[in-house]
Amino acid sequence: MSTPVSFFGQQVLNRVSFLRCSKEFVKKSLNHDSTIFIPFIEGEALISPENGNLVQLSYSTKSYQNILSTVIPAYTTLLNSTRSRSDESGINLTFLGLLEETDSTFNFEWSNIAYKGTPYFGLDIRVTDNTLFKKADFESIFSFPQMTRDHIFEQTNADASLYSQGRMYLDWLAKYKFCPGCGSKLFPVDAGTKLQCSNENKSLHCNVRDARVNNVCFPRTDPTVIIAMTNSDYSKCCLARSKKRYGDFVLYSTIAGFMEPSETIEEACVREIWEETGISCKNVDIVRSQPWPYPCSLMIGCLGIVEFNFHNEVINLNHDDELLDAQWFETTEIIQALDDYTGGIRVPFKNGTNLPGSTTIAHQLIKQVCENYKRLRTAAASHL
Ligand SMILES: [Zn+2]
Repeated sequence: MSTPVSFFGQQVLNRVSFLRCSKEFVKKSLNHDSTIFIPFIEGEALISPENGNLVQLSYSTKSYQNILSTVIPAYTTLLNSTRSRSDESGINLTFLGLLEETDSTFNFEWSNIAYKGTPYFGLDIRVTDNTLFKKADFESIFSFPQMTRDHIFEQTNADASLYSQGRMYLDWLAKYKFCPGCGSKLFPVDAGTKLQCSNENKSLHCNVRDARVNNVCFPRTDPTVIIAMTNSDYSKCCLARSKKRYGDFVLYSTIAGFMEPSETIEEACVREIWEETGISCKNVDIVRSQPWPYPCSLMIGCLGIVEFNFHNEVINLNHDDELLDAQWFETTEIIQALDDYTGGIRVPFKNGTNLPGSTTIAHQLIKQVCENYKRLRTAAASHL
């Protein structure tokens, strides 16, 4: 059985990461007729006013031709220089990969192997009065609505996954402007997937530039554990209501928290469970993961199996101040809610509360508890 694909986690493109270092490849792919650009304005993608889909620009669409035929050739001359920085050029670009289709017209030969596919780039527009490119260069898309959290979950997983990859790289390119080693300006290299220190003064030491390996800055991914707590026969599931959750609805969900340096995934779960709920859990199963582009997390989904003994399972919200409430629910009540669920970003649950919708890993973990419960019951019945 193959692992199910998480929302935001579908690998639509071949990232061909080894080709990013070839300037020839980057130049050719940027300027090819078939290339697709996913535009963002100040770090957020756009929705087409016509059909509500994620906006994707191509040279073949007339209204976008001006943008691409002016901006991209000019930007190509700035590649791998400090002038390509968004505060000078007005844009950030990042190569996402090749969509491998049989009728693809782009190809590139590297070490005697031909790589074929439609090149995809993320394009973040950050124009000001002082940048090389101006607002007028992007006139035809500036009035488009920006992507919201509600809209992104209505996109196909393929588009949401392209969005996630682009958003994570572009957010990083926009935020990391100065070298952590010496404070000099950073500039993008390898098609916007690495940042290099611009300090050329050899007498001025920089522990990033002068490192023997990793002498560039890489994008970061922040590992986060997300846990559905259950008991040994899966008949109960502990869900919590967060103080931070936005919106005017009541949501009961899994708990989550950032991993800390030098922690295993399992130990991070044990700590988070105790800090947030007071529950003592010693048994953690890693189930599946999901990229989460707000701004750069990797959600590592786990089940925390709590051995009930009138002590371990007792809820105490007083350690840290993150939860408004946490409760042990009967798994059968949750199964009922999931059976009645017909799609959408929330699952109606009892007494006007809600559970997270199917595009979230929280939902998938809760569903996993329900499925484990049903499997155990079926197995037990067959032994009677
Ligand atoms: Zn430096």
